[in-house]
Amino acid sequence: MPAETTTSASAHETAAARSGVLIEARDLRKTYATGTSEITVLSGVNVRVEVGELIAVVGPSGAGKSTLLHLLAALDTPTSGTVYFEQKAIDSFRESELADYRNRSIGFVWQRHHLLADFTAAENVAMPLLMRGAEYSEALETSARWLREVGLEAQARQRAGELSGGEQQRVAIARALVQQPALLLADEPTGDLDERNAVAIFELMQRLHREHRLTSILATHNAGLAGRADRVLQLEHGLLLPVGV
Ligand code: ADP
Repeated sequence: MPAETTTSASAHETAAARSGVLIEARDLRKTYATGTSEITVLSGVNVRVEVGELIAVVGPSGAGKSTLLHLLAALDTPTSGTVYFEQKAIDSFRESELADYRNRSIGFVWQRHHLLADFTAAENVAMPLLMRGAEYSEALETSARWLREVGLEAQARQRAGELSGGEQQRVAIARALVQQPALLLADEPTGDLDERNAVAIFELMQRLHREHRLTSILATHNAGLAGRADRVLQLEHGLLLPVGV
């Protein structure tokens, strides 16, 4: 069966049609062994994220923001505790469900874009579709639509390595959304950009969040940008707490 590359019915529309909790962490703990000792990064994180929420996670460098996002995305496993996606514990997923969860349910934007520098912007955005066997021309058509969404229609045929930092991050956002995930996770997506570009990228993510009825969790150290989220949570001393409480 050919891979679906259209923008029609998608997993997130199904999820967004329902109200309620999309992702939840219960008593999430993460400890790293470092030589003879161990460090506790997360010491019991609890959070429930409703469908359609835009959440900012703030906290000093080293507080564990990346660690938390990786656990939510099933890119790493907690020392204890559980992540539930649509009320199902992700540690109970079979290997194929887990792959689907990582690749289809979640779109991940990193601080560094991790684009393939020698491929065009369009090919980079199409890559997740091509990797699951989509027709090249169909994948490129879908990719072109997403490049329009992020304002880079004119740069589609340019090599990713030749684009500016802000443009590269736009390509990375388009690539994260090309499979229409339910959940967008972004780890310091504006961290490598100057303030003007950081604001532009944040506003782009806000617009895509709204227009595509996403649920989004953005880790950022930029308090000004975080303040524009629906909810701001502070990660400190291993715990995630509402700001101002
Ligand atoms: P943040 O994203 O808030 O800057 P991180 O999640 O990257 O924080 O890191 C939290 C802490 O966990 C840091 O002290 C970091 O050095 C440590 N850490 C992260 N990954 C590992 C690892 N694989 N092994 C050991 N320590 C790690």
